[in-house]
Order: sequence, then C-alpha cells, then structure tokens
Amino acid sequence: MIYALIPIFIAIVIVICIPVMVGVYVYQDAKKRNMNAVLWTLIALIVPSLIGFIIYLLVRTNYSDLKCPKCDNTVLEQYIVCPNCGNKLKSTCPSCGIAVNPEWKICPQCASDLSFTKQDFTPPYHIKDKALWKILLAIILIPLIVIFLIIIINLSGIPSSGSCSMSEVGFDEYFNDELISEDTKDYVKNWLENASENNVYALCYEYSLNEENKDYYYLIYTPSGGGAKDISLGQSAGLLSPKTEINLWKTENKEGLYSLMISINDNKPKIEVTVEDKKMPINITMVDFNPT
Ligand SMILES: [Zn+2]
Ligand SMILES: [Zn+2]
Repeated sequence: MIYALIPIFIAIVIVICIPVMVGVYVYQDAKKRNMNAVLWTLIALIVPSLIGFIIYLLVRTNYSDLKCPKCDNTVLEQYIVCPNCGNKLKSTCPSCGIAVNPEWKICPQCASDLSFTKQDFTPPYHIKDKALWKILLAIILIPLIVIFLIIIINLSGIPSSGSCSMSEVGFDEYFNDELISEDTKDYVKNWLENASENNVYALCYEYSLNEENKDYYYLIYTPSGGGAKDISLGQSAGLLSPKTEINLWKTENKEGLYSLMISINDNKPKIEVTVEDKKMPINITMVDFNPT
C-alpha cells in the first residue's frame, strides 16, 4: 500500500538528509583548516548520533576567520597592514613601528609618547560561520517537520485499499439462522452473557484469500450501543495499519449486534467504534470460525 510507505519515505529522507549536510560541512570546514578532510568526514558520519560531528567541532583547529574590511582578503591576527590592499589594520607606534593598543599612552618597546598620535586604521572583521548554524537548525527542525508530517498524514484519513460492509443483525434472526452452526451459536450466546455495559465486543475471524488479500469477518456487540440509527463506515490509513471507524447512534433498543466484513489488501485494520460520538473501548476476540 503506497500510503503506508510515506512515513518510511520521510524517515529515509531524514536519515539521509542530515548526514549529507553534516558530511559536506565537515569536509569543507576541515579543508579550510588544513585538517584531514576525508578522515574527519568519515568520523562525523560513521560515529552515531552526531557524536562524531560534535567531536569534530570540539577538536577542530583554529584558522584565521579575519578579513580585511577593504578588500575581503583573509588576514592573520599579527598583520599590521593588509598584504593585498595595504589597508592599515592596527594602530602602530610612529617611532618603532610595533602594533600598539590605541588606548596606550606610551609605546612599551621604545617608550615614545603615544598620547598625541591619532591614526586612521580599520581593524579586520570576523567572518561568521553561518553554515554551522544552518546545520544545527536543520538537525533540530527536520525531525520536527517529519513528526508534523507524520501526524498530518495520520489524521488526513487517506483511504486504504479495500472495502467493507456492515449490517445490523437481529438477535432472534441470528439465533434462528440455519446457516449458522449450533456450536457457533453456543459460543456467541456465552460471549454475549459475559459482556459488560461499558465496552464494545467483537469476534473476529481472519480469512486469507492469498498472501496479500484478506477478509475479516466481525460480529460486533454493543451492550449499550443501541440499534443503529446511522452506521457510517470510514476507512483511513493509520501510521502502521488502516483503521475502520464505526459510528453508532443510540436508539430505544438497548443493545446492538452487527456483522461487519472487511476485505483488504493491507495489514489488519484497527476497528474504532463510537457511540454518540463517544469512543468506546473495544474488546476483540480472534476466533477460528466465521461468526457472522
Ligand atoms: Zn585588504
Ligand atoms: Zn615604539
């Protein structure tokens, strides 16, 4: 069933997507830092639960993330001028030429007075590692989006491939039916007697036509459900298995007996019974005979 594959497909995407992003990032980042890019990419990908990636972030060597503000050339911390455009990056002592803090009053090397020296200089700027933030955001957001999509798919009620039919069965009609064996009737009588008011009961018989196609025969008893004013059957694809919804309305009759047949080429459907919009706990007993 194609719809059942959607969550699996999404899971594959998430399983592939995040490691690919992490791998590309580590490879490029390690190269920039003159680290062994292939080795670190493998470590980041193979060590599970992103632990390899975290280790990489902790041990990666520093590299110059400084840039000249005039020409965007990469510069090192110790540079006084940009080697590319000659832009002055630091304040210097006019006598000996060493880099000095613009707030210093006296040069620590040659003892010149710096207090009247005003210099124009534009310090280098740090480049921000935006890619890392994007990856961290993806690691958090992608699973959230996937969970959201799975919930949407689960709630959207995509029809399952199969059919179902349901009809109300009278108690007298059932016990007088000559097509139903005496053993079955005895079993059902005993089953009905042990039912309590607040549950819905079902006997389920599974009949396999072949590997994929199965028929499910249900005899459903609602001790407090009443006769059905309206029976609506809905089939929707659950996360792992299809679901059949049976909505009943109370009438003057106290109890109800229904026969339900589901023909499906999927997993065993989940049965949900509501009486007057209230979801009822359902007690299903598998039997090896057709109770309907
Ligand atoms: Zn420059
Ligand atoms: Zn000096």
